[in-house]
Amino acid sequence: MTTKVKKAEIISLNNINKSYNDMRILQDISLFVEYGEFVSIIGPSGSGKSTLFNIITGLTDADSGDQKISTNIGYMQQKDLLLPWKTVMDNICLPLQIKGVSTKEARQIVKQYLDMTGLRGYENKYPNQLSGGMRQRASFLRTFLTSQDTMLLDEPFGALDSITKSKMQKWLLEIKEKLNITILFITHDIEEAIFLSDRIYVLGAKPGIIKSEISLDFHKEEKTMRLVSNELLETKNEILKLL
Ligand code: ADP
Ligand code: MG
Repeated sequence: MTTKVKKAEIISLNNINKSYNDMRILQDISLFVEYGEFVSIIGPSGSGKSTLFNIITGLTDADSGDQKISTNIGYMQQKDLLLPWKTVMDNICLPLQIKGVSTKEARQIVKQYLDMTGLRGYENKYPNQLSGGMRQRASFLRTFLTSQDTMLLDEPFGALDSITKSKMQKWLLEIKEKLNITILFITHDIEEAIFLSDRIYVLGAKPGIIKSEISLDFHKEEKTMRLVSNELLETKNEILKLL
């Protein structure tokens, strides 16, 4: 007899509401993320996506609703927060040092990940000497080293040119497997969401409500196949109609 094992929900939000200055930003947001999933939230700008991440991470309080978080979360915010006066190595070490790890030990830890993330050879450069893609790799590694379990990524590739972006998307899928992490991802790029995700929540604007939850069950093992599939266009159409 086979029983379907329900995976563990590590993030679950129930009826989250949030207003700023009497303006309802998020309304009745309920969503969940299971261990190992890649879940995206897609919505127009101003729909409250970043606010939602701030609520999940506790930077902002919701007005009502509840949330259960049973995972360690690393949060890579929309803005690149690398310090310009520190090298890539020192930037990545920073959260470890804040946790009390010695500089020497922090560097040893970071070195173990340089090859995997493609940052080898860039560790002594300063952020402004890096391309946009490399900066995002450095931010990603720094965020990963704060949690190692679940990463909240807020439009990490939004500012990249389309060729770099497509390379970084493939990089992210590979690194997710290697590091064995769960990802909750914000984007306003529909194709990006369809390429990367196991599930997508579509957020409408003013107020931000969840309009739909879409499971992407095609080409799950070989996601690059999605980019040339009919399902891509079908799903894209479905999402466009909702936005
Ligand atoms: P998104 O990330 O989807 O673009 P945001 O969550 O950044 O949307 O913002 C949603 C809305 O909430 C916007 O209208 C924004 O101006 C407003 N907002 C966000 N943060 C604050 C804040 N701290 N104070 C007042 N208004 C805010
Ligand atoms: Mg945002």
